[in-house]
Amino acid sequence: MPVLVMKFGGTSVATLDRIRRAAKRVGREVANGYDVIVIVSAMSGETNKLVGYVGETSPLYDAREYDAVVSSGENVTAGLMALTLQEMDVPARSWQGWQVPVMTTSAHSAARIEEIPTDNIMAKFGEGMKVAVVAGFQGVSPEGRITTLGRGGSDTTAVAFAAAFDAVRCDIYTDVDGVYTTDPRIADQARKLDKIAFEEMLELASLGAKVLQTRSVELAMRYKVKLRVLSSFEEMSDEAGTLVCDEEEIMEQNAVAGVAYSRDEAKMTLISVADRPGIAAAIFGPLAEAGVNVDMIVQNISEEGRTDMTFSCPIDQVARAEKAMDEAKESGEINFREMVADTNVAKISIVGIGMRSHAGVAAKMFSTLRDEGINIKVITTSEIKVSVLVDRKYMELAVQSLHDAFELEKA
Ligand code: ADP
Ligand code: ASP
Ligand code: MG
Repeated sequence: MPVLVMKFGGTSVATLDRIRRAAKRVGREVANGYDVIVIVSAMSGETNKLVGYVGETSPLYDAREYDAVVSSGENVTAGLMALTLQEMDVPARSWQGWQVPVMTTSAHSAARIEEIPTDNIMAKFGEGMKVAVVAGFQGVSPEGRITTLGRGGSDTTAVAFAAAFDAVRCDIYTDVDGVYTTDPRIADQARKLDKIAFEEMLELASLGAKVLQTRSVELAMRYKVKLRVLSSFEEMSDEAGTLVCDEEEIMEQNAVAGVAYSRDEAKMTLISVADRPGIAAAIFGPLAEAGVNVDMIVQNISEEGRTDMTFSCPIDQVARAEKAMDEAKESGEINFREMVADTNVAKISIVGIGMRSHAGVAAKMFSTLRDEGINIKVITTSEIKVSVLVDRKYMELAVQSLHDAFELEKA
């Protein structure tokens, strides 16, 4: 039997009633002749609650125990989904990550999937089981401990299973009916895309569009998984949702495909560091070792051999960054006068493979923000994206005005 992977996110399994609705969809795909692997998230709000418990218990927690706690939400929904399917006379069984086993690295709270053996589940399909329900977001380390894949990681579980089982498709069911030109929750004019290229989706995801976890897009691109995003609240149809696919499959192409934002950014500045060969290595080496994900970097002009170095990182890594820099200063590796953290910024990005062949896209972005009176604090560009840091209070306005300026509501 061909294998189909169906992933249900938190809102799609938020109540027993919603689990029943999701199970009905699964039942219909079984009736269509598929062996189905269902990947479930925790009920919505559950993982946040568990993360909160950990933080309250131990602010500088042991990541192994964090994983032990936060992975548990998915165990509940996996069991409930299997029971619901059984009640509907669909032969189903649940698996936790370690039972498959989903083998991961031991980078707790941000582990990567290394291998998914298929024999266990395939043997069950061979015995007449129709649905394998797998707890998303979790795996097991070489040391035999439970790991998690980072927030939003059930998307990655789903794509990894689709690749391992050579599934016909990986359907990601969520609370919006596809990938939009920007988050439909902050811009009414956002338009649903029928198709989006892997590379654009990869950029949008990594720049904050949380509809798919970045790693899931990477895996889909690498293993040629047919990836579809669709709503678990709408009627089923073959045309529904957004297909994430190769660039060649998309006919018309705007210069900009979408606008992403990330609210959880911080801008850090080291004031008056010595401008000498090796200074960047001396700053960013220790930051990397401390697990700080540095994104944008600006080195200012130097005066009398000293300069300011600015970088951005996720807001919850500010304390770690400060500690790493203080330690580097104490050990004499670097010398700076002061470190300033601005935690009231947001990153706004425009993304599109059409930028490769369109000139003036960045200039249009800057003039649009100027017309709204929004000051740009840091800029970075790559071949298919431009990102800026702005004051967080302008985040929505920036997204909406860029969406208008690039006429993304028009196909
Ligand atoms: P799930 O719990 O199903 O994994 P998520 O909350 O992780 O769902 O992702 C879906 C959300 O992603 C949507 O509710 C939407 O607010 C947000 N989102 C951000 N950017 C986009 C975009 N470009 N297109 C669609 N949704 C987006
Ligand atoms: N439950 C996890 C989270 O909220 C994983 C997921 O839903 O994808 O991050
Ligand atoms: Mg998600």
